[in-house]
Amino acid sequence: MDKQELIDILSDNSKNEWLFREADRIRHENVGDEVHLRGLIEFSNICKRRCKYCGLRSPNKKVERYRLSTEDILLTAKNAVNLGYRTIVLQSGEDDYFDTDKMCEIIKGIKKLDVALTLSIGEKTYDEYKAFKVSGADRYLLRIETTDKELYSAMHPGANIENRFECLYNLKKLGYETGTGCLVGLPGQTIESLANDILFFKELDADMVGIGPFIPHEDTPLKGASKGDFWLALKVMALTRINLPDINIPATTAMETLNPNGRIIALQSGANVVMPNVTGLEYRAKYEIYPGKICINENPEQCRGCIENKIMSIGRTISENYGFRNQL
Ligand code: SAH
Repeated sequence: MDKQELIDILSDNSKNEWLFREADRIRHENVGDEVHLRGLIEFSNICKRRCKYCGLRSPNKKVERYRLSTEDILLTAKNAVNLGYRTIVLQSGEDDYFDTDKMCEIIKGIKKLDVALTLSIGEKTYDEYKAFKVSGADRYLLRIETTDKELYSAMHPGANIENRFECLYNLKKLGYETGTGCLVGLPGQTIESLANDILFFKELDADMVGIGPFIPHEDTPLKGASKGDFWLALKVMALTRINLPDINIPATTAMETLNPNGRIIALQSGANVVMPNVTGLEYRAKYEIYPGKICINENPEQCRGCIENKIMSIGRTISENYGFRNQL
């Protein structure tokens, strides 16, 4: 689709049902009915950045900060593998304590467990990304958040969008399966800029795209802003599926925060991936990027059982392979 078509569909709600059905059909034809589960470990909530929307931004003194030891990270990963996960996702704030050597040690430890490994630890240099890759990391998630240059600057004090783009192209060049995505409903965001976001996913040839509604956090400068619209986020996701038919698209946790059935609706509107939390119960509430995060009172075993039941209730199955792009 070209930009005008994307804008027309995003601004017109009368064809939503068609859009979601079409995205579901294209998902079924290209990536099948299997859902890939990724076990998410939130291993540090310490962050040097000041992203205006994020509850973990460094100026927020109300967060009780934590970081897992290497040993705990590996134990958490092992538990996830025992629960049947074939991919581990390591996510954190930008925490310089985990330097290249520490990360490489953790990566090698996890890769011994015979799983695919995704990193989501922010902006690093080409050489750092290369070292992680050589140590065994398979995939990397780095949302562009928004391709609107002005909005990007307003949302990310001290950061620049050129560097974020460069990071994404470096990841691609290094052979990572590269995931990106955007927030929907940031204050000042336009429909046109969401259309540009989708065009960017295509231009990058992203292997994975995660779309989530913006949810305002009390302890950030955006506390008074309105939350993103669930249905608009779902439309951006569905359009992403239609335009990038064979990629992996998660039903994001933020969608479920805004709609109690959000992940199932997403799985029926183009998504084929879910990322259940496998972090220990004692840390979950502290990794509060936005309020109302689901599953903060559940342990990894409960999360696994719960999502499995939901997925099976809509006639889908859980994949037993690593879930690389194009791996049916
Ligand atoms: N530090 C890593 C991981 C960020 S957390 C990085 O920079 O990539 C993962 C995602 O949470 C972010 O990319 C962002 O899109 C999302 N997020 C952060 N704050 C949010 C909020 N208030 N509402 C919804 N999603 C949010």
